[in-house]
Amino acid sequence: RATLGVMGGGQLGRMFVHAAQRLGYFTAVLDPDAQSPAGLVSHHHVRTGYDDPAGLAQLTELCQAITTEFENVPAQALQTLAQTRPVAPGAAMVGIAQDRIEEKAHFAACADISGVTCAPYAVIETPGQLQAVLDERADLLPGILKTARLGYDGKGQVRVRTAEELAAAWAELGSAACVLEKMLPLSAECSVLVARGWDGQVVSFAPQRNVHVAGILAVTHAYEGALPPVLADRAREAAVAVAQHLGYVGVLCVEFFVVDDGTEHGGLVVNEMAPRPHNSGHYTIDACDASQFDLQVHAMAGLPLPQPRQHSAAIMLNLLGDVWFDADGQQRQPDWQTVLSLPGAHLHLYGKVQARVGRKMGHLNITGLDVATVKNVARRAADVLGLPGLDAI
Ligand code: ATP
Ligand code: MG
Ligand code: MG
Repeated sequence: RATLGVMGGGQLGRMFVHAAQRLGYFTAVLDPDAQSPAGLVSHHHVRTGYDDPAGLAQLTELCQAITTEFENVPAQALQTLAQTRPVAPGAAMVGIAQDRIEEKAHFAACADISGVTCAPYAVIETPGQLQAVLDERADLLPGILKTARLGYDGKGQVRVRTAEELAAAWAELGSAACVLEKMLPLSAECSVLVARGWDGQVVSFAPQRNVHVAGILAVTHAYEGALPPVLADRAREAAVAVAQHLGYVGVLCVEFFVVDDGTEHGGLVVNEMAPRPHNSGHYTIDACDASQFDLQVHAMAGLPLPQPRQHSAAIMLNLLGDVWFDADGQQRQPDWQTVLSLPGAHLHLYGKVQARVGRKMGHLNITGLDVATVKNVARRAADVLGLPGLDAI
């Protein structure tokens, strides 16, 4: 049997492994952590650092093709792997997505075909650039200063209202390469998952609406009417254009802002992309006939890409470690008995040993034939578990 490899052993790797194994593949995970969620369920677990030559050699020895689930895998490591094995997504793609400056330059480069632009922004890499922005770009305030690299879940970001706050924030972020983005009046956020094969074949999921709480994804709404259809169509076309323009291979997630621009449906602004399956696509496991992880397996292994069909309305509730603690900070077991008695509730836990506040421990997909029922069940589940982010439905 053939073996598929994945760089990174987190929950995305674990769900990739599950999908690969269902198709009869062996799997190999490279992750230094002995307890990593994907390593625990994989046939092979290469326990080295991401740039350890011996580990990389072992992975290519074992695998027919290799993917990544870890956004910050060294692009150089993917390049090394690609010398002997098909690697999807490739080092160049991952490299662009790892750097907000390159990412925004790419979005700008394909704006003509995607029909969307990003929020107004300026690059701040040097004290001189900071000064120029302080002097000339008052239009970007209030704004968000974001580190170009290594930020996720709202980490590495500071909201700034004044020039003084901007200067202080840049120092606070270690004077690292940053972008200052204008704060936009968001009426919603959405994302689109696209899969593209080696042969250029492209399939995509319908856009989903995302609700973030404290910078972390809390809820995903995936059903007809979750977004205005005009907007959903534009987002989907834009995401496909971005993937095609890149010559991307594998699953790509593109995040969008919906801004209040006075038009009926609002305007669409591209935020960022993730070169992998994405938290906002976890509903596809239970609500579609092929999940985002199935498509990642197909794309990297050179299998035909099925156009996925969503058969159920769905709401995904992210389960952060917070759920494992009561108001006094005492650790507790969430009430799974009650949650699992709810119709259409599908619990996914990632097998992480230690719950911590803010740590992604699992998710709960609620599926059903009609949207009203799914919303009701999601509300009940959120009440039982004390989950935020559902007030707006
Ligand atoms: P992820 O975990 O999705 O990779 P991240 O840390 O890379 O997130 P962003 O997606 O850039 O961060 O921002 C996190 C959230 O902050 C957004 O989903 C949005 O809610 C808010 N946000 C970011 N940029 C802006 C902006 N320019 N205007 C308004 N809100 C914003
Ligand atoms: Mg990000
Ligand atoms: Mg984001």
